Amino acid sequence: MRPKPPRHLHDSMPNLAVRGPVRRLAIVLGDQLDPAADAIKGLDTSRDAILMMEVSEESTHVPSHKQRTVLFLSAMRHFAKHLAQSGYRVRYVRLEDPDNTHSFRGEIDRAVHELMPERILCTHPGEWRVKNLIEEATRAAGVPLETRPDRHFLVDLEDFDAWMAGRKQPVMEHFYREQRRRMNALLENDGRPTGGDWNFDEDNRRAFKRAPKVPKPYSSRPDAVTQAVIHLVEERFPDNPGSIESFRWPVTRTQALKALDDFVQNRLAEFGTYQDAMWADEPFLYHSLLSASLNLKLLDPRECIGKALTAYESGQAPLNSVEGFIRQIIGWREFIRGIYWHEGQDYGSRNWLDQHGTLPEFYWTGRTDMVCMRQAIGQVLACGYGHHIQRLMVTGNFALIAGVDPRLISDWYLAMYVDAVDWVTLPNTLGMVMHADGGVVGTKPYAASGKYIERMSNYCRGCPFDPAARIGSKACPFTTLYWDFLIRNRRRLSGNRRMSMMLRNVDRMTDAEQSAVCVHAHRLREGFGISGVS
Ligand code: FAD
Ligand code: SF4
Repeated sequence: MRPKPPRHLHDSMPNLAVRGPVRRLAIVLGDQLDPAADAIKGLDTSRDAILMMEVSEESTHVPSHKQRTVLFLSAMRHFAKHLAQSGYRVRYVRLEDPDNTHSFRGEIDRAVHELMPERILCTHPGEWRVKNLIEEATRAAGVPLETRPDRHFLVDLEDFDAWMAGRKQPVMEHFYREQRRRMNALLENDGRPTGGDWNFDEDNRRAFKRAPKVPKPYSSRPDAVTQAVIHLVEERFPDNPGSIESFRWPVTRTQALKALDDFVQNRLAEFGTYQDAMWADEPFLYHSLLSASLNLKLLDPRECIGKALTAYESGQAPLNSVEGFIRQIIGWREFIRGIYWHEGQDYGSRNWLDQHGTLPEFYWTGRTDMVCMRQAIGQVLACGYGHHIQRLMVTGNFALIAGVDPRLISDWYLAMYVDAVDWVTLPNTLGMVMHADGGVVGTKPYAASGKYIERMSNYCRGCPFDPAARIGSKACPFTTLYWDFLIRNRRRLSGNRRMSMMLRNVDRMTDAEQSAVCVHAHRLREGFGISGVS
């Protein structure tokens, strides 16, 4: 049920205003909610001020899921209140303010005009687009901008660039081992990895034999601020995708810490073993659900790692789970961020596989006979969340093998997940899933047939399709499209040694078998409304 709007909407969020002139104006963006951020630290509360802006261009440049918008706005409002209570002077522009220009440029302009700052400070933004907007706006306003590094992350961008220098193929595993050594995480005194191995992937691919009994994860209860924002979002963005009813995400640091403790106590122990498993109507399983809190900077990655290590040392969680979790945070998360900034602004327009298909409508509605897609998309619409394997091997895999344009599917991920911020969404989607960067993030495309989904989930049991069949009325669309993908890209992928086994299987097919697959794939795409694939 949708929470009732509070009687006085504005009571929940005082209009935070600042009178000028100010010496320095620090811009705090919606994914920079860390009081220790470099742009905030050291501000003089009597002479400096903070600018926070809610602008509708951020919820409309991709049609942001309602829960994603609620999360950002509510967390920003809570953070602004916290800053104001801590003595900072905060100029907070609300979505509903009549003077709001709804663009960063307009709001920076207005703030400069009214507060006349000598200098503007900002922590390094999480997106090229926003970085450019802020640079342009401050340049146009004629005020010097000082961008400070984002110390939330464990690896400085300069150090990542140095690591990349001279590498033809960056391999996440190499980066991860180096970080483990640098941070002395899960290492013995002689420098060898604890347990004798750097990773326990072999132990971490188990599927459920029967329905798992997963402890219910921590869920925040919407307070007056969140309720007001829910009401506002329903009113302002009624046509944006997703439902708001089950909103559960932490919007304050206190709540995020509770969510972290809840994960470590109740789910970390099984996290590793079932990391790749999927089960119908179980959206969260043993995952941490911490990505949104981390990306908004409500949580620090160091405290996540610290708590996981303590759980290992006290015998509360086994090594395969703790190593698996730490690998995601100090390995994948940092690697992905480094790649985003290292590869530069043109990264988002890469399309190594030259795919130009349109995105089927069911990505926005969840209406499809394919149970795996219905489940993965349905839960995203319901709560803005999907775990990694659902993103990579279901919704992502489908887009890859169906031939969808990488930018269209990247924008879908950016719009639909509560944890989406460009630095993390883009390399994961365009790089890891779509192989559009030609092998920077992943050494090969993660293309898979329906057999993979059958092995890792119970989805296929209730599905009208047969994951083993590649043609015919019962053929699983994943299986048909997988073979079609390999046939279509046979030549392009032939230089990739990691693809050789898959391609040998294509070569074993007769010409007639190959054309039957291609004809069936063509019909499937027509049925799904996918155009632009030749
Ligand atoms: P857990 O499974 O509990 O993992 C723990 C933490 O590790 C996560 O909270 C996250 O901070 C980090 N992590 C794990 N894998 C990755 C990764 N590949 N890249 C970066 N961090 C990682 N993650 C986002 O935070 N935002 C996104 O917009 C996003 N988009 C993605 C799109 C695609 C197509 C794919 C394949 C992955 C994407 N990821 C994204 C990575 C990953 O799927 C999510 O971080 C994870 O599913 C979040 O759920 P969780 O917090 O329960 O993670
Ligand atoms: Fe998905 Fe194919 Fe399995 Fe159906 S049979 S759930 S479409 S993988």
